Amino acid sequence: MSKLRIGLGVDFHQLVDGRDFWLGGVLVPHTKGALGHSDADVLLHAICDAMLGAAALGDIGTHFPDTDNTYKDIDSKILLSRCSELIKGNGYSVVNVDATLCLQAPKIKPYVPQMQEVIAGRLGLTIEDVSIKATTTEMLGFVGREEGVVAYANVLLEKQ
Ligand SMILES: [Zn+2]
Repeated sequence: MSKLRIGLGVDFHQLVDGRDFWLGGVLVPHTKGALGHSDADVLLHAICDAMLGAAALGDIGTHFPDTDNTYKDIDSKILLSRCSELIKGNGYSVVNVDATLCLQAPKIKPYVPQMQEVIAGRLGLTIEDVSIKATTTEMLGFVGREEGVVAYANVLLEKQ
């Protein structure tokens, strides 16, 4: 009998000049990039946290602390693969991912298929199992002022 478990992940990063903007494992051309200890990929971090949360395995900060120099500027695709191994080691597999990015600019629609491919590839899913949506905040708040970017993700796990 399979058992289903859902997880929620939320992540925030500041947007600053002079940083690459990694989103969903894809380098998105922009005037600003996300600030963080790793490559600051807000979407992959939210997905990692949702996966860990669904399995009640803590959070990304527990497994990959930002005080550890091993993770300085690390490619978050590596963290996603590590989280995938962690949940598999606990007998879970991912059923699907549904994520929403909140950012004012740039338009990310052209990059979504590439993001789906990266994430599906790392999690052993098909692109139909990976949903990525984006919304602005209608110019409201820190997202609207382009001071930051937010991602929310839900991940469903199945235990065999
Ligand atoms: Zn993060």
